[in-house]
Amino acid sequence: MAASGEPRRQWQEEVAAVAVVGSCMTDLVSLTSRLPKTGETIHGHKFFIGFGGKGANQCVQAARLGAQTSMVCKVGKDSFGNDYIENLKQNDISTGQNIIVIVAGANLLLNTEDLRKAAHVIGRAKVLVCQLEITPATSLEALIMARSNGVKTLFNPAPAMADLDPRFYTLSDVFCCNESEAEILTGLAVSSPANAEKAALVLQERGCQAVIITLGAEGCVMLSQTEPVPKHIPTEKVKAVDTTGAGDSFVGALAFYLAYYPNLSLEEMIKRSNYIAAVSVQAVGTQSSYPYKKDLPLTLF
Ligand code: ADP
Repeated sequence: MAASGEPRRQWQEEVAAVAVVGSCMTDLVSLTSRLPKTGETIHGHKFFIGFGGKGANQCVQAARLGAQTSMVCKVGKDSFGNDYIENLKQNDISTGQNIIVIVAGANLLLNTEDLRKAAHVIGRAKVLVCQLEITPATSLEALIMARSNGVKTLFNPAPAMADLDPRFYTLSDVFCCNESEAEILTGLAVSSPANAEKAALVLQERGCQAVIITLGAEGCVMLSQTEPVPKHIPTEKVKAVDTTGAGDSFVGALAFYLAYYPNLSLEEMIKRSNYIAAVSVQAVGTQSSYPYKKDLPLTLF
């Protein structure tokens, strides 16, 4: 997707280091003291509209850390879609040419034909990131395109599906999920670093190069081809104000490090991404809570 009127020239000159193929969602949020019962109407005390969608969230976090990013996505031709394109532009995310449709749920209409139009973006990136909020076949195709061009792949299987196509594992250089996604994918209970380590081993046996399971305030567990023994990477616990989108902040930060600091160990990338995600949980909102490079310690860069 690209904003209308965007000069083609700029599109060709800027090679995105981080390409994200995924979703854009507009969140309509009501804050209430409790959930209404069926058929009941209750008063909320606050309402706001936020920018969300796992794909865009991750892209925004990577961009705020200084990554050159491109978002391959589909939005509706309505005010939500227009506002979303403006939001991506505000975050310096390249949006190439327009792919706009006139229906809701546009995310599910992003297809392999669209990916072919974005092949020059995907094939020239350093890292491709995708999730499961678009049609799985489209995510799979994006991963295949990246692999065949030697682009590193970071796959976030969210929302998780129990019968995930096995090719998602073999196509993942880094497979990064949270506790509940790891449970759905493995059938194991994942509630502590110790049992997350077991789940990580199961996921890696399915063919991933590296596996990360995020554990909220407990940080993550990781393992990789070079570090085949699962390892807990703790983080400094912070008092969370709003944890929405913490996982996406983590994945976006990780994409940034994979693209710009490829010589760092995965463990070091995870420590830094833990730090950034912890900042995001200390403010309200999803993208609105994601930190910019200028607000972070220089030691992260
Ligand atoms: P999701 O948002 O997908 O549920 P998690 O809850 O696992 O993901 O959080 C992702 C990451 O955010 C964690 O790995 C950690 O780095 C950070 N994080 C989340 N909650 C906290 C917290 N209370 N204190 C410190 N870091 C946190």
